[in-house]
This record gives sequence, C-alpha cells and structure tokens, in this order.
Amino acid sequence: MDVRALLGLKALDDVQSALFVQPHPDDNEVGAGGTMAKLAAKGCRVVAVTVTDGRYGAVGEVHPAQLARRRQEELVAACTALGIQEHIEFGFEDLGSYTERDVVNKLVPVLLDIRPEVVVTVDPWTPYEAHPDHVKTGRAVAECAIRLASLTVSQTSPAYVPPMFAFYASAYPNAAVDVTDFWDRKIRAIEAHESQFATPEWPALRAYLEFQARVAAQRFFEGSGDGRFAETFKLLSPRQLHFFPDAMTS
Ligand SMILES: [Zn+2]
Repeated sequence: MDVRALLGLKALDDVQSALFVQPHPDDNEVGAGGTMAKLAAKGCRVVAVTVTDGRYGAVGEVHPAQLARRRQEELVAACTALGIQEHIEFGFEDLGSYTERDVVNKLVPVLLDIRPEVVVTVDPWTPYEAHPDHVKTGRAVAECAIRLASLTVSQTSPAYVPPMFAFYASAYPNAAVDVTDFWDRKIRAIEAHESQFATPEWPALRAYLEFQARVAAQRFFEGSGDGRFAETFKLLSPRQLHFFPDAMTS
C-alpha cells in the first residue's frame, strides 16, 4: 500500500510555501539549507523561524548578549546567502527555562498567518539528542499538529493544519531532496555563521557534511545518485504525529 499517497504527502521540493523552524541560528542551514535555497529559487515562499537567541553557543570569554547580537547578524547574512527574505525570531534565551508550550503559543499564530504546505524542523526523537532547545523546538512544532486540530485554538476560518511535517537531522529519514545545484549556497550560508564555524574544525565538518550528503544521494536516488548531494528528512503527515506506531518505520 502506498501509505505516503494515502496520507497526502508529496515531494518536499514541490511545495509553494514552507516554514523552517530552528532552535538556534544555523540549525536550518546545516540541516536543510540546500532545500531552503532550492525552494526559494523556485519561487516558493520560504520563512525561517529561530526560537532562541543562541547567546550561549560558544566557549571562552564571550559576553552572551554580544554573542546574541552577533548571531543575529550572522543569521541575516545566512538568509541572504540562501535567498530567504522572511525570518522571524522568537528570542527565547538559549538554554533558557522557556517551555515547549511557550514555543507552541508563539508558533500557532505564525502558522495560522502563513499557512505553509510544510513545516520543517529538527527531529527531537533522534536517539542521543541531548540539547534541550532542539528537543523542545522539534516537539513544539509537532504539538502544533495537535493544537491546530483542536478547539483549544480559536479557529479562524477556514481551519488549518499543516499538511506535511518534515524533520531534519533524523535517524529515520524517509525522504530526500536533491540539493546538488544548491550545495555551494548551503555552505556559504553555514559559513556566514562565523561565530560557530570559523574554526579549525570546520574543514573536517564540511567534509563530513559532504560525505553524508553523497551517501544520502546514493541511498535515495539509487542508480542516479553518484556525484550528487541530498538532504534527508523524516516526512510525516499530521495524522502520523498521534497514535501511529508505524510512523517511525514509515
Ligand atoms: Zn542548534
């Protein structure tokens, strides 16, 4: 049975509007920057949301408020590299005591306003994911599927639930986007986050990202994947985000 068709899931790079929600400035770029650039180039409305200010994303003698400001500037530069014009910052404190519910409360009005065909975020269920901002952000996005389908949200008419949810950095990917033509832009966008990646480790990390993307292309594009780059996602319908044990293996 073609469960994907039954659930109304289509190719990720075939949507007209997409919302990418990241815990910190840079997560979208690392996880899905090629897909963001590809969609923007096709004329898709792409909006980026950043949940926290990233103020503690460094070690050493850096003032957190200064780092937050710097990361804001880097975020703008990264969006420019990807061709993204719309970005929203929620401004929660990095590693702060905000709750998943706080993020849901901010996300619901954004979703009702933009009504994207797909919401993309980090996979909070990837085994060993220890960062609380990643867990809270991913779970909050998924919880919006439940909230928007309930009377807890005062529904503007017509009612709306995002038809597709996609999670990057997933241990259980079931979809891939060919980002070969947008790989250079993804790398430029990541490098725009100088506070995070202008480091001695960056060349090795870049090589690892390229290796991952090549292996993913070979896996998902079978005979035609050689020499190509892919970003992978766990693509789910909102129905699969509740009482759906097969979601992990779908
Ligand atoms: Zn992060």
